[in-house]
Amino acid sequence: MSKVIIIEPSKATASFIASTLQRAGFVCDHASTYESAERLIAANDYFAGLSSMVLDEVEYGSGINLLLEHRIPAIAVTASLDEHVLNTLSQKNIVDYVLKKPDQAEYIARIVSRVYKNQGIKVLVVDDSASVRDWISRILKRQGLTVLQADDGHSATKVFYKNSDIKLVLTDYNMPGMDGLRLTAHLRTIRPMDELSIVVLSSDTKSRTAPLFLKQGANDFIQKTASVEEILCRVNSNLEFLELIQASREQANKDFLTGLWNRRYFFEHGTALYEQAIVGGSELCVVMLDIDHFKMVNDTYGHDAGDEVLKEFSALLVDYVGDAGLVFRFGGEEFSILLEEVQADELVEFLEDFRVLAEGFSVEYKGQGIKFTVSIGATANMDESLTAMVSRADGKLYEAKRTGRNKVLCDW
Ligand code: GH3
Ligand code: MG
Ligand code: MG
Repeated sequence: MSKVIIIEPSKATASFIASTLQRAGFVCDHASTYESAERLIAANDYFAGLSSMVLDEVEYGSGINLLLEHRIPAIAVTASLDEHVLNTLSQKNIVDYVLKKPDQAEYIARIVSRVYKNQGIKVLVVDDSASVRDWISRILKRQGLTVLQADDGHSATKVFYKNSDIKLVLTDYNMPGMDGLRLTAHLRTIRPMDELSIVVLSSDTKSRTAPLFLKQGANDFIQKTASVEEILCRVNSNLEFLELIQASREQANKDFLTGLWNRRYFFEHGTALYEQAIVGGSELCVVMLDIDHFKMVNDTYGHDAGDEVLKEFSALLVDYVGDAGLVFRFGGEEFSILLEEVQADELVEFLEDFRVLAEGFSVEYKGQGIKFTVSIGATANMDESLTAMVSRADGKLYEAKRTGRNKVLCDW
């Protein structure tokens, strides 16, 4: 669900905000009055809402209150930011505020995207004071984050082991039991800085404290006297940092045309799977697939049609394999599968069914149906390495090509 409500009396402002958000991939509904906002909220699910502070015929800030009453993360839209407005805003449980200015477009998109991505992100707040914990948790929850709590390093570690998907830990320094510094050092032995962000929030003002934490692997250090706005900005930028790293990792491991994992990732991830299977005494099958006479597809229908065939073939294969394994584009029109959930004695049948499926498949391109077949070689023999398994499967693939194509051959 990626719907946002914009409560704004001015058509021009609403359409500028809507087009900004639509470019970022969100669906927007517009309410120009309090009443129409009420109706829309009753009939739709919104993950976030923006509201002008001023609306016709209702009190200042009513639109924001309406969003908050319905537990919709709320962003205030204001024409000015004097002391009075800032004061009012700071007393409301809003995500953030934005100014009604075209140069705020990028910030609006960023903050709404942040709230969208925060759904499902787990954050752990560690502090021995229940009132501080609750205060911070409230601030983070209104950003759409899922918040867990712990009262010292030991209990934080326990929560962390049960929730390995925690993305950010916000910890105090001085706590009875295990303090924040020891917690930071311990968490760093489990998760690196680019997978788990550790932000320290401390009232300790000694100049040595921040560097001590940063050297121990904390991502950031904030004084407890910092404003809520500053704490949020830092939490957000630390989450954004993790996502940027994640995105660039994905980019390095994925094939652009088909969206499949690439050859690089095949060897990186496959080697780990191979070692796991050896240690655990389980099975791993390596499959190599190559589209038959693919050059003819390009020659007959053109290179773009060839690209479309590669894309649709990839989707067909991913859909067929499902949770049984991972699919890779090994290069050109050659693909591979690492199968963890198919036993050696089921392998031929599993692949034969796919061969038949591909044979009956047709890619529609500019009114023409493009048909093709695929040759498959596979092995369930763990041999001495993943590379050795690839050679075995490849040997079978080439035997399949040599002996007529459109067939499955396996080696044990
Ligand atoms: P075989 O049955 O022996 O595998 O024959 P083939 O024609 O499929 O194999 P060959 O290796 O001779 O040619 C592969 C062709 O795949 C040549 C190359 O231009 C084409 N190809 C490789 N990558 C892409 C791609 O990304 N897009 C398109 N459209 N074609 C590609
Ligand atoms: Mg081929
Ligand atoms: Mg080939």
